[in-house]
Amino acid sequence: MLKKYSQMDIYLQEIYSTIYKNAVLFLKRGIKEIIQNDKEIFDPETAIISCLYIQTSIELSLKAYLIKEVDINAILKSSETFSSEILFEKFKENHLKTKTYEELKNILKDNNDLVFFTNLHFDHLTKFQLYRNKLIHLNLFLSEDEIINLKKELIFAVTHLLMPLLTDISFEFESPSEFYQEHLDGKDFNKLISFQPYVDEMHRMAVEYSGLAYECINCCKKTFSPNNEICYCCNLNLLYSAGYIDCEACEAKRAIVYDTLNIHEEGNEHSINGVCMNCGDKMNVYECPDCEIRFTFYGQPDFVEKICKC
Ligand SMILES: [Zn+2]
Ligand SMILES: [Zn+2]
Ligand SMILES: [Zn+2]
Repeated sequence: MLKKYSQMDIYLQEIYSTIYKNAVLFLKRGIKEIIQNDKEIFDPETAIISCLYIQTSIELSLKAYLIKEVDINAILKSSETFSSEILFEKFKENHLKTKTYEELKNILKDNNDLVFFTNLHFDHLTKFQLYRNKLIHLNLFLSEDEIINLKKELIFAVTHLLMPLLTDISFEFESPSEFYQEHLDGKDFNKLISFQPYVDEMHRMAVEYSGLAYECINCCKKTFSPNNEICYCCNLNLLYSAGYIDCEACEAKRAIVYDTLNIHEEGNEHSINGVCMNCGDKMNVYECPDCEIRFTFYGQPDFVEKICKC
């Protein structure tokens, strides 16, 4: 992102940054709306306002993304070319006419080397737009099912649609929570990571992109992956500080977590307490300082049977 940004001249950078900032602004306000509602389903007002904010953010993000990845002419209605200085003047005076949402969406569809959106993503983009139009033009003729679905739809938008447009986050190694921790105030961020539809989506994401998700020792949501050592919800990062071992009690793979920074401290005898993030079982973990051998035990380690040959 930085490289492409630095390739733009100052006028284009200014246009891009303004659009990007506004996209983030609407996203933040949208999130505020979504998370303030703790009822099972949205009340009509929250439904309308959150849809409006998020849809506006999607449109702006799409424009910012295309300016950065293609060029500014990709989003402009007129095919006439102007210098970026003149474009900037027009932008400041609100005279830049941009393509419709539908046209912008089709640029993504027609270019496989742009953001990786599957049919599922495009279905959601369309469905979301439909909800928003229904809410605004037809004044709330949403079925009960659609209202119930709206929370999930909004969470899909703020994770799977907006993150790839606004960030370089790769879900294999990072989570959308990283972006939200940076941009939301502390209170809103904490609300978001406790908001059940978001937690559910982070669980799905952890499983899909890392292969595993267990209960996080920090936020207690089932969103921690021992494979990439991050929690998709609260951003807990245990890289270089924890070890993982299979649990004998529940047979979950790499589910027991233990502290590798302190296990070899003097007095610990190469053992430390561990906890299974799947079944909650607590035991001790022994890790040989000379070889790779590790095992779990309750009370005293069974050195006769399990200790390594070092
Ligand atoms: Zn967590
Ligand atoms: Zn277990
Ligand atoms: Zn050993």
